[in-house]
Amino acid sequence: NDMIFEYPERPSQQDWSKYYPAYFRPPTSSKETKRPLSPSSDSEQQPKRGPASPGSDQQPTRVEFADIGCGYGGLLVALSPLFPNTLMVGMEIRTKLVNYLQQRIEALREFQHELKKSPAAEWVDVQAKLDKEIADLSKPLETEESLDNGETDRLVPGHYENISAMRINCQKYLPNFFEKGQLTKIFVLFADPHFKRRKHKARIITSTLLAEYAYVMRVGGIFYMITDVKDLYDWNVKHLDDFPLFERIPDEELEHDPAIPCVVHSTEEGKKVARNKGKKYLACYRRIEDPAD
Ligand code: SAM
Repeated sequence: NDMIFEYPERPSQQDWSKYYPAYFRPPTSSKETKRPLSPSSDSEQQPKRGPASPGSDQQPTRVEFADIGCGYGGLLVALSPLFPNTLMVGMEIRTKLVNYLQQRIEALREFQHELKKSPAAEWVDVQAKLDKEIADLSKPLETEESLDNGETDRLVPGHYENISAMRINCQKYLPNFFEKGQLTKIFVLFADPHFKRRKHKARIITSTLLAEYAYVMRVGGIFYMITDVKDLYDWNVKHLDDFPLFERIPDEELEHDPAIPCVVHSTEEGKKVARNKGKKYLACYRRIEDPAD
């Protein structure tokens, strides 16, 4: 039911403060503000601090990475310390998973604060407490998902304010959340295969959706795709190859990309595939210039 999805009419109306409280102030209501009412600015929030993107001091802080169908969020937790100044969002259609991931991130944020206060000797205790809390969070999900993290989150102090999770059907509302050219990375990792022909429209990579991904991506941005299902890989690669605004990145170039090890190894689904000794098929594409722009 679409009614239960919350989405802004346009990106400037999205309140990011509940997702990244360290980065955004809640929007001020027109009653509180002393400035004269201006229709374009009163719904827009001011970034608390920034800038998020190196080299672009003028730009306001904004989300730059999106993990589409993020599941339990292993990618975000791994990327957070690698890109400490970048805001990243996990987008997931299933309420239970979004709730789990929000609590997981909340726990990581709280424990890092605790860590700051306590001396180094207590590090092990803090990590153990975190492990237990996160294991407890995932317990209700285990029976239906056979979730087995293998290892728990390694706490890296000073991080996790830059990651968050939201509930969204990414087939429908993506351009409501992101401006044209806003995202520098999109991840579609181990997406549901939807084998049956009549289910193909539920796939996350289609020509229609690629047009939306290309719209919200900056030129030079990277689209990451990995799956263990050869059929789906072929489908995805065909659609990406055929799409004029994406260009395949040669594998040799990917060796230098610090995000790749996380893409391959850090998600819960990727770990499951590795446990079952499955094969992983990776393809990455660069968003190229639109001659019409
Ligand atoms: N990327 C994660 C990983 O690698 O562990 C999760 C992979 S899981 C097989 C695919 C996820 O995509 C599921 O959690 C599913 O709920 C989510 N999903 C499927 N269709 C979606 C949609 N239209 N919008 C958002 N999420 C979706």
